Amino acid sequence: MSFIKSWIRKDIQDMKAYHVPEARELTKLDAMESPFIPNKDFEVEFIENITKVNINRYPDPLAKALARSIRNLMDIDNSLDILFGNGSDELIQLLALACDEGDTILSFSPSFVMYETIAKFAKLKYVDSPLQDFDINLKETLTLIENHKPKIIFIAYPNNPTGNLFDRNKIISIIESTKALVVIDEAYFAFSNDSFLGDLKSFKNLVILRTISKISFAGVRLGLLIGEPETINQFQKLRLPYNINSLTQVTCEFLLKKKNYILDSAKYIVSERERVFRALSKIDSLKVYPSDANFLLIKSREAKELNNFLLYNGILVKSFNETDSLKNFLELQLEKKKRTTKC
Ligand SMILES: *Cc1c(COP(=O)(O)O)cnc(C)c1O
Repeated sequence: MSFIKSWIRKDIQDMKAYHVPEARELTKLDAMESPFIPNKDFEVEFIENITKVNINRYPDPLAKALARSIRNLMDIDNSLDILFGNGSDELIQLLALACDEGDTILSFSPSFVMYETIAKFAKLKYVDSPLQDFDINLKETLTLIENHKPKIIFIAYPNNPTGNLFDRNKIISIIESTKALVVIDEAYFAFSNDSFLGDLKSFKNLVILRTISKISFAGVRLGLLIGEPETINQFQKLRLPYNINSLTQVTCEFLLKKKNYILDSAKYIVSERERVFRALSKIDSLKVYPSDANFLLIKSREAKELNNFLLYNGILVKSFNETDSLKNFLELQLEKKKRTTKC
């Protein structure tokens, strides 16, 4: 046996690294990114700001200037605290790190895969509650909570990959029923009409996770955990010093001030979502699901052939494994209107 195979944890040896498909010259609609490129749209000012950075120095550990921009962009008032991560994935990992040996993380299926992946890295137990018609099965979930006493419950709101908001009242029942920390993951907040930001004051066991990845800034890697100062202070201890680099800080401080630009871009995506939803719904062989996010989920008995056809025509969408409960589905992010592709 090779050195590394005898050395590495058995469960890591059996894992697969996160797979990112090769995009080459393809139109990339598979990662729920934004088609808007703010650093190009504000190029001159952007370059000026970037060149001011003293990259020989460590970054501001608290990213104060960036925090001001993001509070203004997302209307987060000063009575709440923010913990920044190198993407919200890093914050999911940090939350898992705060758990005790043998603790359980609970989430739903299908939902965002990193909750389960990170639970495994951290050697935590993972339990999922299957969705029923893409909504939370409350009875089943409350039973799982009772039986497994999870330490953290992750709820993606809107959910990825189904794109919808779960029933808000069910979420409230879950928060009230448990001693778990409930993390509402609002990665798609900009495209939806609801948020739990206003509920943070009512529930001590609630925190909100957000990211700027879906609103034009996937490349800079910035996620945020929002909560009561008492809660955030404890998690601050687990953050590695200087995890938000100077280039990310200055980029965000400057570009996140473009609030109108960011909100208008999101509005554009929402209007395209409705237009593309109507257009695709006219095709008999497709089932298109209503979405509160920047993507549409579609079902087709010929999903595999359709995926191959799209690839052949230079379009990369997200497909699911043959073994997945979503094997006949495709997920595609909304783009700017440009050339019309003939189907
Ligand atoms: C995309 C996505 C994330 C990942 O965000 P990053 O900040 O890019 O790490 C988190 N949660 C959900 C539900 C997502 O869809």
